[in-house]
Amino acid sequence: MSTYLDYNATAPIRPEAEAAVLAAMKTGGNPSSVHAAGRAARAIVESAREAVAALVACLPGSVTFTSGGTEANALAIESAVVAGFDRIIVGATEHDAVREAAKASGLPVSIWPVDSLGLADLAWLKSELAKGGKPLVCLMLANNETGVIQPVSQASILVRDAGGWLHVDAVQAAGKINIDFNALGADTLALSAHKLGGPQGVGALIAGPRSTLARRLHGGGQERGRRAGTENVPGIAGFGAAAKAAATGLAGQAAWRDALASEAAAAGAVVLGEGADRLPQTLCLATPGYPAELQVMGLDLAGVMVSAGSACSSGKVKPSHVVEAIGRADLAPFAIRLSGGWASTEADWIAASRAWRELVTRHQARRKEVA
Ligand code: PLP
Repeated sequence: MSTYLDYNATAPIRPEAEAAVLAAMKTGGNPSSVHAAGRAARAIVESAREAVAALVACLPGSVTFTSGGTEANALAIESAVVAGFDRIIVGATEHDAVREAAKASGLPVSIWPVDSLGLADLAWLKSELAKGGKPLVCLMLANNETGVIQPVSQASILVRDAGGWLHVDAVQAAGKINIDFNALGADTLALSAHKLGGPQGVGALIAGPRSTLARRLHGGGQERGRRAGTENVPGIAGFGAAAKAAATGLAGQAAWRDALASEAAAAGAVVLGEGADRLPQTLCLATPGYPAELQVMGLDLAGVMVSAGSACSSGKVKPSHVVEAIGRADLAPFAIRLSGGWASTEADWIAASRAWRELVTRHQARRKEVA
């Protein structure tokens, strides 16, 4: 029996989402066609739009479907550039989808430091904003590696006062904690279906009234002219079904995760971000001297799937910039991430805990032998 604790990479598809994808494929039809089949496809897209909007408490008209979280982040950043914003402030622990898109924008980029828990420094932001210009500020809601939840609504007050645009990458937060788009004060917010039990390759950008999205894909008038191309109807249908199901939240996970964390800490591991508000199902664990890739491989052999650093570039293990940003570069090569989700059980966390402790005991014994 295998144990999957890598939901922050991709969550297993929810049965509701799988059924919705299949049903949409069977429905067929192009949402832009005026005949009955086209209208049926359009209805699927619009009902998914309502479900995604409900997940983050915004109006359905604010939702633009994209090919995923990466495109949603890129659309926000490129739209701010087109709208005349002239510099970008990027949180030090942002995902590469934001960091790289900011770098590629051609605008000057300032990196917004975090403290030792991974929380963005609001005093730094205030003084940076005082330098003037028209800033786009990118701050994620929850970190993909540590689960640390950023003070987005406080940051939004500062950004608004400075006439800036606040973009929030909520890809990891959605479906795991409650999100209220307006209460956050974000101008744009990125989502991805596969992190909450929907299919891969579909996401959304939420855009409030203060932001104007640029047209990046030219062609037809889909998505109100913001993104041309026939909609990914099955993907969008699955996203909508997953969003609806995800609204019930994640009970129980935090206690199961914390039980593993305290056993790991007793065995010498460091829990990164502990002490900050975190997603209930994410655990970033660094075991000094035990390389992350060896832990991941060892756990995999024991039937437990987790990841090292950020898994978006799987196969390529580079030290985590998130761990470096919190001032623990010394721990970066040793950090693994365990992340549960909608189908995870207490038994999964216990199995992972057992497997991890066995591995670490063996590793420590080997080190003693060669010492
Ligand atoms: N943003 C964050 C915080 C993520 O964790 C990820 C994926 O790992 C992305 C963006 C990219 O999302 P997608 O895989 O849908 O492109």
